[in-house]
Amino acid sequence: MRRNLTEEIAEEVRLTSQYLDKDALDPRVMQALDRVPRHELVPAPVRQQSYANHPLPIGFGQTISQPYVVAVMTDLLDIHEGDRVLEIGTGSGYQAAVIAELGATVYSIEVIPELAERAAANLSRLGYDTVHVREADGYFGWEEHAPYDAIIVTAVTSRIPPPLIRQLRRGGKMILPLGGQHSAQQLVLVAKDADDRISTRQILPVRFVPLTGGH
Ligand code: SAH
Repeated sequence: MRRNLTEEIAEEVRLTSQYLDKDALDPRVMQALDRVPRHELVPAPVRQQSYANHPLPIGFGQTISQPYVVAVMTDLLDIHEGDRVLEIGTGSGYQAAVIAELGATVYSIEVIPELAERAAANLSRLGYDTVHVREADGYFGWEEHAPYDAIIVTAVTSRIPPPLIRQLRRGGKMILPLGGQHSAQQLVLVAKDADDRISTRQILPVRFVPLTGGH
């Protein structure tokens, strides 16, 4: 079923190549998707649908992204062995596991305590020792391990949280959905150059749950 899913993702990438500017994702990303046991990370009521290419509810009003979107976001970050990656919105832990499969160390923040605990327990049971989960408001990032080679935000916000821009290293990349909770959202790739200048590129229309918290 997992192999089928990666084939479906490859097909959807071909169909959306005009957005992505390429016909295929990095083979390392496809291999990472092939290795993560998604059914071990999604909650029991939706486990049957673990390898369907659509979003899934994970409880607490939260939804995890369609695997195609996970694949595209991971690909755009161009992650390499030894990179330090910050994720905002651990959710099920699936996205974090995919990034860990690329050899990166992942610092992942989740604001809902039960989800943070469940993801941390599942990831550690599966042996993802390079994923560190913390319960906090991700808006503020995770200063202690900054700067990050890559930052991924998996909940939508209307503007890029300034603390996250500060915690991105020069030459680093950030991917996040920008827009309103009920209006159009776009996946945006942010790059920080050697002079701390920020550039952005719109990739795809998407649909994410909102970034909440007290900020
Ligand atoms: N990356 C996840 C999907 C996340 S869904 C996965 O692979 O499963 C979005 C998640 O962001 C939800 O779990 C939600 O609780 C969390 N979230 C929302 N606002 C947040 C915030 N301010 N800080 C941290 N996490 C937040």
